[in-house]
Amino acid sequence: MSAPDTTTDVPDEVRARHTELCQELDDHSYRYYLGNPVVSDAEYDALMAELRGIEESYPVLVTQDSPTQKVGAPISVDFAAVEHLVRMESLGNAFDMEELTTWADRANAEVPVTGYLCELKIDGLAVDLVYERGRLVRAATRGDGRVGEDITLNVRTISVVPERLDESVRPAPELLEVRGEVFLPVEDFGRLNERITASGHPPFANPRNAAAGSLRQKDPRVTATRPLSMIMHGVGAYVPAGGAQGGEDVAFTSQSQAYRLLGEWGLPLSDRYKVVKTMDEVRDYVAHYAANRHEPPYEIDGIVVKVDDFALQRRLGSTSRAPRWAIAYKYPPEEVTTRLLDIKVGVGRTGRVTPYGVMEPVVVAGSEVEFATLHNAREVERKGVLIGDTVVLRKAGDVIPEIVAPVVERRDGSERAFVMPELCPECGTALGQQKEGDVDLRCPNARSCPGQLRERLFFIASRRALDIEALGYVAATALTQPLEPARPPLRDEGDLFDLTVDKLLPIRTYVLDPDTSEPKTDPKTGEPKVVSFFANKKGEPKKTVEKLFEQLEEAKSKPLWRVLVALSIRHVGPRAAEDLSRHFRSLEAIREADEEELAAVDGIGPTIAASIREWFSVDWHNEIVRKWAEAGVRMEDEDDGSRPRHLEGVTVVVTGSLEGHTRDGAKEAIAERGGRATSSVSKKTSFVVVGDSPGSKYDKAVKLGVPVLDEAGFGVLLEEGPEAASAKRINPVPEDAE
Ligand code: NAD
Repeated sequence: MSAPDTTTDVPDEVRARHTELCQELDDHSYRYYLGNPVVSDAEYDALMAELRGIEESYPVLVTQDSPTQKVGAPISVDFAAVEHLVRMESLGNAFDMEELTTWADRANAEVPVTGYLCELKIDGLAVDLVYERGRLVRAATRGDGRVGEDITLNVRTISVVPERLDESVRPAPELLEVRGEVFLPVEDFGRLNERITASGHPPFANPRNAAAGSLRQKDPRVTATRPLSMIMHGVGAYVPAGGAQGGEDVAFTSQSQAYRLLGEWGLPLSDRYKVVKTMDEVRDYVAHYAANRHEPPYEIDGIVVKVDDFALQRRLGSTSRAPRWAIAYKYPPEEVTTRLLDIKVGVGRTGRVTPYGVMEPVVVAGSEVEFATLHNAREVERKGVLIGDTVVLRKAGDVIPEIVAPVVERRDGSERAFVMPELCPECGTALGQQKEGDVDLRCPNARSCPGQLRERLFFIASRRALDIEALGYVAATALTQPLEPARPPLRDEGDLFDLTVDKLLPIRTYVLDPDTSEPKTDPKTGEPKVVSFFANKKGEPKKTVEKLFEQLEEAKSKPLWRVLVALSIRHVGPRAAEDLSRHFRSLEAIREADEEELAAVDGIGPTIAASIREWFSVDWHNEIVRKWAEAGVRMEDEDDGSRPRHLEGVTVVVTGSLEGHTRDGAKEAIAERGGRATSSVSKKTSFVVVGDSPGSKYDKAVKLGVPVLDEAGFGVLLEEGPEAASAKRINPVPEDAE
């Protein structure tokens, strides 16, 4: 059956939904270009997909005015309208490799594509510049693609935009219309928001909104205070120097050649674009930036792939809103909106009581998110979020999800403010500040609060500390919060190494969610899930009990720094613990050291030193150390003299995966020889060891001229020391080295 083609064939409800979607999308577009959207891009894209679906089933509904056929949004009355010399277009989208391939197949079916230009899709806003005889005469927003807003005065404040084209290589053309993206670099965005919130104004949700808001200021002096930047990505009208008929013969022949010319005229360009021949190389480029999305100093939301050759571009032409010769490959959104259903509080291992948001689960940056920390009550207030709000949720790369801000426009009056509890949600003790002026509230019942002890046990077992895999979150819950009639087998973590099978068998517990410490429910019964973690149905020990004891035994001989980390001393993480154990070599020596001695250790400052002293001033903390030592936990780093300590004063960064060492193993090998393993490369780094897929640290080392070793060179470093290893460096010695 062919698609219905008369207006009467469209069911009323479909027509109504179509009208509604058109209005809604127009409305969102308008707000978005002002820099003040109320839905996330993902929501906008979903509405657009719905509209497209309806129009595919009922083509009669497609009019010129439909958001599927238009570019951008109507312009506002705040700026004068200007007509672009050549229409500005949007871009078609691909959301996966298959859609990207379909686009390329279509283009190749029409023309023989000889090369693709891949570049970053900067998340900013498109601006059109017109240069007449080398002088900037006008700058405008994209508007609806034909008519934009005159923002010349504002664009003149952007330092990278030349007022006059550089004519040192070739004369400026008679007329040049160029397009590019105006954006705010991520770092400047952070600083701008700090400044804005300090002056009592709400922060911008992301750099794009900040750039749009900054560029559309009525007073250019305000724009001038915003560190905007710009990168070119297209050419509009063009008349060569000496007029259309003569003068310099520099016609634009391809996107990449045009970029070279624009560069010669001093226009800002990206140094990250790449021209490739095959779609496999395009896919590699897309994959590279999917994995390194935060490497560029500005936010990107995808990759733009363009047929490089201009003659082929012309032959491929455009649809009503986008060129057929280009496509935007969109990465999964890092920002979505969702509902904040509740704000709860959780207790951490140091007693800090932290509010966290419980949200309607959403997928962001490829994973489902339901919870996000809100840090402390002041942060909840600063962000201005209310329970019941629609909120902007952001998850960038490996960073934990963050509730950015509420979407105030979507409130309906049913929202309510969060009130920080006065009592610990786990043990009922009155919460307090550690010292006056602290923003964090803490549960002072450190030793016996079952929540704090549970978190400490879980932390002791983590890979950062003693690495006891059999002691996961459920086991930690079982040991600290067994269901009646069993009693907790531990008074505190001091008893960890004195556990016996008999103490474990009667224990049953709820299964808690590590993100929230709330019991998980059985989907069938709706009741909280209960497990007998250590005993099977016959009441005999499960396999995990044997494993637990085995691993506890192994943990006793772990290096001193891991034991130090496991003690949960504030501010003493693996880094500080390594520095301390390298210097003092025994827990006893650390306990004996005064604050000054501690603070003098390389890598340890007064804060950590004070925190260590404070920790040892508590009796039951010393009891933990005593009991662990009695149980046979290693309390000093053995130095039997068998290992040369020839890495003293040497700092090493290991990056990429090595065949012969795990990441921790490599670090320990360095530390055992007196060296220091660090994670970031600087001029002070002695060596960078690279394994497979080393990433940006390798590039940085090469740039700074730091000696780079492969795995074999690392072996030489460990066995023979820095001098022998220097001869094995795989990067050239910089010329300016002494
Ligand atoms: P687009 O952002 O998907 O792609 C076109 C734009 O990409 C160009 O105009 C240009 O500004 C930009 N771009 C960046 N780097 C480029 C490069 N290297 N080469 C060429 N262009 C480059 O399309 P659009 O029409 O500007 O906007 C549509 C998108 O904007 C939607 O998919 C949605 O994600 C978002 N949007 C969101 C809302 C909202 O309310 N949240 C509203 C409207 C639009």
